[in-house]
Amino acid sequence: MSVPPRLILATRNPHKSAEIRALLGDRFSVLDVSDCPECPHIEETGTTFLENARLKALGISRQLDGWVLSDDSGLEVDALHGAPGVHSSSFGGQEGNHALNNAALLTAMKGQANRCARFRCTLVLARNGLEQAHFSATVEGQILDSPRGDHGFGYDPLFQPDGHDSSFAELGEAIKNTLSHRSRALSQAISFLYQSLAVSSESPPSSSPPSPPWQNPTRPSPGSAPPMPASPPPSLL
Ligand code: IMP
Repeated sequence: MSVPPRLILATRNPHKSAEIRALLGDRFSVLDVSDCPECPHIEETGTTFLENARLKALGISRQLDGWVLSDDSGLEVDALHGAPGVHSSSFGGQEGNHALNNAALLTAMKGQANRCARFRCTLVLARNGLEQAHFSATVEGQILDSPRGDHGFGYDPLFQPDGHDSSFAELGEAIKNTLSHRSRALSQAISFLYQSLAVSSESPPSSSPPSPPWQNPTRPSPGSAPPMPASPPPSLL
């Protein structure tokens, strides 16, 4: 049986990591940087999702061999001119405090008739310290008047995707993963990875020795990647 290729997620956010792992299934051996204490903390100083995703992917890829995938994502609300946007995780004044973020969003949306919003996700794939590709996707919806549901994370209790009568937090992971910004962007990234790995598996074998996980890991370098289909199977996402 072939060993799945390794993919390093440039995130310490356990919710994102869990969603991405669920979407990838067992097609890749997935690690995230919380498994790597020596990996640097990357400041998200960019003004766009793409800039921040690049900072994270390249920052980690300069440290570690193999494919690195970063995600930068957030909520854009039309009535707030695109806010909270890249500041989604600290909108309430404290980084990563979802309760404060949701309270701040409800305050900002008081009396707003236009509730249109979207989640946006940008992914960057890097390898050997270089960007290989980036992908972006959105899911459109409405901001609710009060939180609903217990699943998911972040703004999920306040976001109702178009075509549904429930928030992401009520719909739960399985349904969210069929329509979310992250699953749509990831579907593109997986197609790209499959194609890249299929190309590299056609190259002659490498003579690189096996190595420990972080210091000198197995790369999907020529010959070391397991055989993969040229395009993802229909069951993919
Ligand atoms: P990042 O870690 O800088 O990309 O910040 C992402 C922030 O955007 C999270 O902390 C959440 O507040 C919000 N966010 C991104 N994706 C989702 C999602 O799928 N559900 C709910 N909130 C999300």
